[in-house]
Amino acid sequence: MARRTGGERPLITGGPSRLGLYLHVPFCVALCRYCTFTRCVTDPGLERRYVSALAREIRAGLAPAAPVTGPPPAADTIYFGGGTPSLFDPSDIAELIRACRETFDVDAGAEVTLEANPETLTADRLAGYRAAGVNRLSLGVQSLIDAELSRLGRIHDQACARQAFDAARRAGFDNISLDLMLGLPGQSAADLRVSVGALADLGPEHASVYILEIYPQSPLAAEIARQHWTRVSDDEAADMYLETMASLEAAGYEQYEISNLARPGRCSRHNLKYWTDGAWAGFGCGAHSTVGDERWNNVLSVPEYLARVEEGGSPVAERRRRTGTERVEEAMFMGLRLARGVSLARIRADYGLDVVARWGSRLAVFEEAGLLERDEHRLRLTRRGMLLANDVMSAFIEAGSTVK
Ligand code: SF4
Repeated sequence: MARRTGGERPLITGGPSRLGLYLHVPFCVALCRYCTFTRCVTDPGLERRYVSALAREIRAGLAPAAPVTGPPPAADTIYFGGGTPSLFDPSDIAELIRACRETFDVDAGAEVTLEANPETLTADRLAGYRAAGVNRLSLGVQSLIDAELSRLGRIHDQACARQAFDAARRAGFDNISLDLMLGLPGQSAADLRVSVGALADLGPEHASVYILEIYPQSPLAAEIARQHWTRVSDDEAADMYLETMASLEAAGYEQYEISNLARPGRCSRHNLKYWTDGAWAGFGCGAHSTVGDERWNNVLSVPEYLARVEEGGSPVAERRRRTGTERVEEAMFMGLRLARGVSLARIRADYGLDVVARWGSRLAVFEEAGLLERDEHRLRLTRRGMLLANDVMSAFIEAGSTVK
């Protein structure tokens, strides 16, 4: 099916542009010292109201982008992100998945991911999530060393993480992602090897590995100063990253994005939409949506979100139409996050832009520095280039471009 915003470009096309549905759950048991996500401490009363508001917002479909007419838009992924979505009861998750299925044409084989924190998971809860239709878990493990978890302000320990993983397997989850962070305060390369080895021994289908960013105003920065914990330098973090990627590759994972690795066929189908110029609709406070040229985002605050939706209003704080220039810059910027890089033919077909003609001299500088690689079909970052991805990718934006 095709929907039109202003007549010139389909809002949703078939196949590759099927929507990803993102549902934001802002609640957490406690706030970790390093966290900058949209989240707040949980409150059962607010949670209940939030589930109802989220279901109501979902049932309004893509009303913020276009009047809903014709058949429902197709979707093939649902992603509960947070925050800590596993604070929600399975019955709430089931209600929200039902709202998605009743509003959108959700593929029978859709990937349905729930982000979960280890301390929230029990056998009953896991069985309930599976029965609700969740078929992929993303577990926020971060480290398998207790002292590191404690410094981050996480409330689980490594034993809890292992138990949660084992319980998820027993509940039948055969598609699990584990998150690890590196560059933690007080962490040595040997410490990181322990966590990476433990992750590989657990054997999830997918792993995400992030370099911790310590923001100057964060509680973690203050605690590091107070406790005199050592900080990992940028060079040390770079070495840790390269070693971790090599170790996980040796363990059978393939790096498919700057921070993500997977066993064959187990990439995150939802997250790939962000990196491949896809379409997604976000629901909940702070959620962002991008469908074709249209982009909109919801209000950040939970009380304001609830007030607006409960009064029958729209939670959208801002909406705008992306220009052709923005679209091509984003296609380059996001596509370069992928290990396979950007297809030059696809950029030409979608945007009428010859990447080599437009940015050739800048590309050559990065290629000579060993940060970018190019053949006749694709342009991609080397693994060293991934460590300096923002510098390389900003070249495509600073250079500016005009695309009709
Ligand atoms: S559990 Fe996750 S979202 Fe919640 S405070 Fe910790 S890092 Fe942030």
